Amino acid sequence: MSAPSQTSPCNVNGGTLYIVATPIGNLADISQRALDILAQVDVIACEDTRHTQKLLNNFSIKNKTLSMHDHNERQRQEYIAELLQQGKSIALVSDAGTPLISDPGFHLVRHCRSLGLKVSPIPGACAAIAALSVAGMPTDRFTFEGFLPSKSTARKTTLTNLVNEPRTMVFYDAPRRAIDTITDIVATLGGDRYVVICRELTKTFETIHSDSAENLLNWLSEDSNQLKGEMVLIIEGYQQVPNEISADVTATLKLLIKELPPKKACAITAEIYGIKKNVLYDLALSLKDC
Ligand code: SAM
Repeated sequence: MSAPSQTSPCNVNGGTLYIVATPIGNLADISQRALDILAQVDVIACEDTRHTQKLLNNFSIKNKTLSMHDHNERQRQEYIAELLQQGKSIALVSDAGTPLISDPGFHLVRHCRSLGLKVSPIPGACAAIAALSVAGMPTDRFTFEGFLPSKSTARKTTLTNLVNEPRTMVFYDAPRRAIDTITDIVATLGGDRYVVICRELTKTFETIHSDSAENLLNWLSEDSNQLKGEMVLIIEGYQQVPNEISADVTATLKLLIKELPPKKACAITAEIYGIKKNVLYDLALSLKDC
């Protein structure tokens, strides 16, 4: 892997839409490149102009802002594309973290790219990735599920559909719903499912706490402070217990063992069900005598 090569100062290119990540709490997490871009672009498109103004004031950046949120993105995309076509440079920021990640911007980026306009990322904080980096769960593959539904019935349906998901799962949720959410996790995925709560990341009351869903429920009930602020939930993927052999596997092995040597019967059964053949061997020997 090559080391990062480009350093500041950075120059803004006309006709480019910059997707600029901003901090998720600690303002010191903004990059030098993000500050340079925010200071130099012709205009900054943002979710909430007052919110972004505070960020700009903090870094003594004076620049024009333009509101672009979920409700006006479709209209704004035409206007922003026109400015880009005239050679203007534009930055898109959201209230916190990386734009487009459970935040507005997808329609704008798609529109600009379809017109052949340049869209360039200025990477930085993202709550999902920050949480994954401290959760201590497998990250070679994971699934980002965005916000869990706020109503219990819909939430349980979402979770039930993920019962057999083997990858680490990342959710955004409000801590004030944490007890209800964990109760639904216990009901759908089981009380022993391992969960990490990442709350108020990079802020004063940052808390990273992991346990079984059942134990987390007790922990949350005993400390109402854990129900405040912002939260990412990381849920361990479904782990097939090595010696948990389903009835289908047993039935197949029983049929094959009548006709084939145990080694061969195990190999074929393992191939059919995508499991390791050595976990079947003891079972094969016991079935042979039946
Ligand atoms: N675009 C943002 C990002 O890159 O993370 C996410 C925006 S989404 C509207 C806001 C959600 O992100 C919050 O409800 C929470 O689940 C999560 N979040 C944002 N900041 C956080 C923080 N400091 N600690 C924990 N979760 C955070």
